[in-house]
Amino acid sequence: MLRSLIVCDTHHRRYQGHAHRTKWFYQCPAPYDLGGNPCPTPCLLGPELEDRVKAICREVLSTPDIIEQEIHQRVGQVEATVESLQRSLASLDKKEARNRDTEANLVMDKATGKASPEAYERCLALVKAERIWISEERQRLQAQLDTVQQGEATLLGLAQMRERLAAKLDSAATEDWRLIFSALAVEVHVSERGAIEVALAIPIEKSPIVFTTPGSH
Ligand SMILES: [Zn+2]
Repeated sequence: MLRSLIVCDTHHRRYQGHAHRTKWFYQCPAPYDLGGNPCPTPCLLGPELEDRVKAICREVLSTPDIIEQEIHQRVGQVEATVESLQRSLASLDKKEARNRDTEANLVMDKATGKASPEAYERCLALVKAERIWISEERQRLQAQLDTVQQGEATLLGLAQMRERLAAKLDSAATEDWRLIFSALAVEVHVSERGAIEVALAIPIEKSPIVFTTPGSH
Protein backbone atom coordinates (compact mmCIF):
# COMPACT_ATOMS: atom_id res chain seq x y z
CA MET A 1 0.00 0.00 0.00
CA LEU A 2 2.90 2.37 0.76
CA ARG A 3 5.08 1.02 -2.03
CA SER A 4 7.55 3.66 -3.24
CA LEU A 5 6.24 6.23 -0.73
CA ILE A 6 8.72 5.52 2.05
CA VAL A 7 12.11 7.18 1.74
CA CYS A 8 15.23 6.32 3.70
CA ASP A 9 16.93 9.68 4.39
CA THR A 10 20.21 7.94 5.22
CA HIS A 11 20.52 6.14 1.91
CA HIS A 12 18.18 8.19 -0.27
CA ARG A 13 16.44 5.02 -1.38
CA ARG A 14 12.81 4.02 -1.38
CA TYR A 15 11.69 1.15 0.82
CA GLN A 16 10.49 -2.03 -0.84
CA GLY A 17 7.53 -4.08 0.30
CA HIS A 18 7.96 -7.71 1.36
CA ALA A 19 5.41 -10.26 2.47
CA HIS A 20 6.04 -13.17 4.82
CA ARG A 21 3.09 -15.50 5.30
CA THR A 22 0.32 -13.23 6.64
CA LYS A 23 2.70 -10.44 7.66
CA TRP A 24 4.17 -7.75 5.50
CA PHE A 25 6.85 -5.19 6.02
CA TYR A 26 8.84 -2.51 4.22
CA GLN A 27 12.58 -2.64 3.95
CA CYS A 28 15.31 -0.21 2.92
CA PRO A 29 17.03 -1.77 -0.11
CA ALA A 30 20.45 -0.63 1.13
CA PRO A 31 20.41 -1.13 4.91
CA TYR A 32 24.20 -1.55 5.33
CA ASP A 33 25.41 0.49 2.39
CA LEU A 34 27.61 3.55 2.10
CA GLY A 35 30.73 2.57 3.98
CA GLY A 36 29.17 1.09 7.07
CA ASN A 37 26.49 3.75 7.45
CA PRO A 38 23.70 1.50 8.58
CA CYS A 39 20.00 2.21 8.34
CA PRO A 40 18.57 3.46 11.64
CA THR A 41 15.28 1.73 10.89
CA PRO A 42 15.87 -0.76 8.10
CA CYS A 43 12.54 -2.52 8.50
CA LEU A 44 9.04 -1.16 9.11
CA LEU A 45 6.04 -3.25 9.99
CA GLY A 46 3.42 -2.81 7.26
CA PRO A 47 0.12 -2.84 9.17
CA GLU A 48 1.27 -0.48 11.90
CA LEU A 49 2.75 2.10 9.54
CA GLU A 50 -0.20 1.93 7.15
CA ASP A 51 -2.65 2.50 10.00
CA ARG A 52 -0.72 5.59 11.09
CA VAL A 53 -0.59 7.06 7.59
CA LYS A 54 -4.26 6.28 6.98
CA ALA A 55 -5.19 7.94 10.26
CA ILE A 56 -3.40 11.11 9.19
CA CYS A 57 -5.09 11.14 5.77
CA ARG A 58 -8.43 10.39 7.37
CA GLU A 59 -8.00 13.37 9.66
CA VAL A 60 -7.22 15.65 6.74
CA LEU A 61 -10.01 14.35 4.53
CA SER A 62 -12.67 14.35 7.20
CA THR A 63 -11.90 17.92 8.23
CA PRO A 64 -13.20 20.00 5.34
CA ASP A 65 -11.79 23.17 6.89
CA ILE A 66 -8.21 22.03 6.47
CA ILE A 67 -8.57 21.40 2.76
CA GLU A 68 -10.78 24.39 2.10
CA GLN A 69 -8.42 26.71 3.90
CA GLU A 70 -5.51 25.33 1.93
CA ILE A 71 -7.37 25.61 -1.36
CA HIS A 72 -8.51 29.13 -0.56
CA GLN A 73 -4.99 30.17 0.22
CA ARG A 74 -3.46 28.49 -2.82
CA VAL A 75 -6.11 29.70 -5.23
CA GLY A 76 -5.40 33.22 -3.99
CA GLN A 77 -1.72 32.75 -4.70
CA VAL A 78 -2.47 31.23 -8.10
CA GLU A 79 -4.71 34.14 -9.07
CA ALA A 80 -2.08 36.67 -8.09
CA THR A 81 0.55 34.81 -10.09
CA VAL A 82 -1.70 34.48 -13.14
CA GLU A 83 -2.48 38.19 -13.01
CA SER A 84 1.14 39.20 -12.80
CA LEU A 85 2.11 36.84 -15.64
CA GLN A 86 -0.68 38.22 -17.80
CA ARG A 87 0.48 41.76 -17.10
CA SER A 88 4.00 40.82 -18.16
CA LEU A 89 2.66 39.24 -21.35
CA ALA A 90 0.63 42.36 -22.15
CA SER A 91 3.68 44.56 -21.67
CA LEU A 92 5.58 42.26 -24.06
CA ASP A 93 2.83 42.81 -26.64
CA LYS A 94 3.34 46.57 -26.35
CA LYS A 95 7.08 46.16 -26.63
CA GLU A 96 6.62 44.11 -29.78
CA ALA A 97 4.34 46.75 -31.35
CA ARG A 98 6.96 49.42 -30.61
CA ASN A 99 9.63 47.15 -32.04
CA ARG A 100 7.70 46.83 -35.32
CA ASP A 101 7.15 50.61 -35.48
CA THR A 102 10.86 51.15 -35.03
CA GLU A 103 11.57 48.77 -37.89
CA ALA A 104 9.06 50.51 -40.15
CA ASN A 105 10.63 53.88 -39.34
CA LEU A 106 14.06 52.50 -40.10
CA VAL A 107 12.94 51.29 -43.52
CA MET A 108 11.42 54.69 -44.19
CA ASP A 109 14.59 56.52 -43.08
CA LYS A 110 16.66 54.35 -45.35
CA ALA A 111 14.33 54.89 -48.32
CA THR A 112 14.34 58.67 -47.86
CA GLY A 113 18.10 58.76 -47.37
CA LYS A 114 17.81 59.94 -43.75
CA ALA A 115 19.76 56.92 -42.50
CA SER A 116 22.99 55.69 -44.05
CA PRO A 117 23.02 52.01 -45.12
CA GLU A 118 25.47 51.25 -42.26
CA ALA A 119 23.30 52.96 -39.67
CA TYR A 120 20.29 51.15 -41.06
CA GLU A 121 21.97 47.74 -40.81
CA ARG A 122 23.18 48.44 -37.28
CA CYS A 123 19.79 49.57 -36.05
CA LEU A 124 18.02 46.73 -37.82
CA ALA A 125 20.27 44.19 -36.07
CA LEU A 126 19.28 45.69 -32.71
CA VAL A 127 15.60 45.61 -33.60
CA LYS A 128 15.84 41.96 -34.64
CA ALA A 129 17.75 40.99 -31.50
CA GLU A 130 15.05 42.61 -29.40
CA ARG A 131 12.35 40.71 -31.27
CA ILE A 132 14.09 37.38 -30.59
CA TRP A 133 14.30 38.30 -26.92
CA ILE A 134 10.59 39.19 -26.87
CA SER A 135 9.63 35.89 -28.43
CA GLU A 136 11.76 33.86 -25.98
CA GLU A 137 10.43 35.82 -23.05
CA ARG A 138 6.87 35.22 -24.21
CA GLN A 139 7.46 31.45 -24.42
CA ARG A 140 8.95 31.45 -20.94
CA LEU A 141 6.01 33.36 -19.43
CA GLN A 142 3.48 31.23 -21.30
CA ALA A 143 5.08 28.04 -19.93
CA GLN A 144 4.90 29.46 -16.39
CA LEU A 145 1.26 30.35 -16.91
CA ASP A 146 0.47 26.80 -18.07
CA THR A 147 2.17 25.29 -15.02
CA VAL A 148 0.33 27.56 -12.62
CA GLN A 149 -3.03 26.84 -14.24
CA GLN A 150 -2.41 23.08 -14.12
CA GLY A 151 -1.69 23.42 -10.42
CA GLU A 152 -5.03 25.12 -9.97
CA ALA A 153 -6.83 22.25 -11.71
CA THR A 154 -5.14 19.71 -9.41
CA LEU A 155 -6.29 21.69 -6.41
CA LEU A 156 -9.91 21.76 -7.50
CA GLY A 157 -9.68 18.02 -8.24
CA LEU A 158 -8.59 17.53 -4.65
CA ALA A 159 -11.66 19.32 -3.32
CA GLN A 160 -13.94 17.09 -5.40
CA MET A 161 -12.06 14.01 -4.35
CA ARG A 162 -12.34 14.92 -0.70
CA GLU A 163 -16.10 14.95 -1.02
CA ARG A 164 -16.12 11.66 -2.89
CA LEU A 165 -13.77 9.84 -0.53
CA ALA A 166 -14.69 11.32 2.82
CA ALA A 167 -17.92 9.30 2.71
CA LYS A 168 -16.25 5.96 2.23
CA LEU A 169 -13.09 6.38 4.25
CA ASP A 170 -13.96 3.43 6.46
CA SER A 171 -14.43 1.03 3.59
CA ALA A 172 -11.74 2.37 1.26
CA ALA A 173 -9.94 -0.38 -0.65
CA THR A 174 -6.20 -0.45 -1.29
CA GLU A 175 -6.59 1.26 -4.68
CA ASP A 176 -8.65 4.03 -3.06
CA TRP A 177 -5.94 4.55 -0.49
CA ARG A 178 -3.26 4.69 -3.19
CA LEU A 179 -5.35 7.39 -4.84
CA ILE A 180 -5.70 9.30 -1.58
CA PHE A 181 -1.97 9.04 -0.90
CA SER A 182 -1.13 10.37 -4.33
CA ALA A 183 -3.66 13.23 -4.13
CA LEU A 184 -2.26 14.29 -0.79
CA ALA A 185 1.32 13.68 -2.00
CA VAL A 186 2.01 11.45 1.00
CA GLU A 187 5.64 10.66 1.65
CA VAL A 188 7.02 8.82 4.66
CA HIS A 189 10.56 9.78 5.63
CA VAL A 190 12.77 7.68 7.84
CA SER A 191 15.18 10.24 9.22
CA GLU A 192 18.85 9.56 9.93
CA ARG A 193 17.98 9.28 13.62
CA GLY A 194 15.30 6.70 12.86
CA ALA A 195 12.24 8.90 13.39
CA ILE A 196 9.40 8.37 10.97
CA GLU A 197 7.83 11.51 9.56
CA VAL A 198 4.74 11.57 7.43
CA ALA A 199 4.72 14.48 4.99
CA LEU A 200 1.60 15.62 3.12
CA ALA A 201 1.07 18.27 0.46
CA ILE A 202 -1.40 19.84 2.85
CA PRO A 203 0.00 20.91 6.19
CA ILE A 204 -2.04 19.82 9.18
CA GLU A 205 -2.38 22.50 11.80
CA LYS A 206 -0.90 20.24 14.42
CA SER A 207 2.81 19.66 14.16
CA PRO A 208 3.79 16.84 11.80
CA ILE A 209 3.33 13.44 13.34
CA VAL A 210 6.69 11.95 14.22
CA PHE A 211 7.06 8.55 15.75
CA THR A 212 9.84 6.04 16.04
CA THR A 213 9.44 2.37 15.35
CA PRO A 214 12.19 0.11 16.59
CA GLY A 215 13.81 -1.63 13.63
CA SER A 216 13.82 -5.40 13.44
CA HIS A 217 16.71 -7.16 11.83
ZN1 LIG B 1 18.44 2.94 4.49
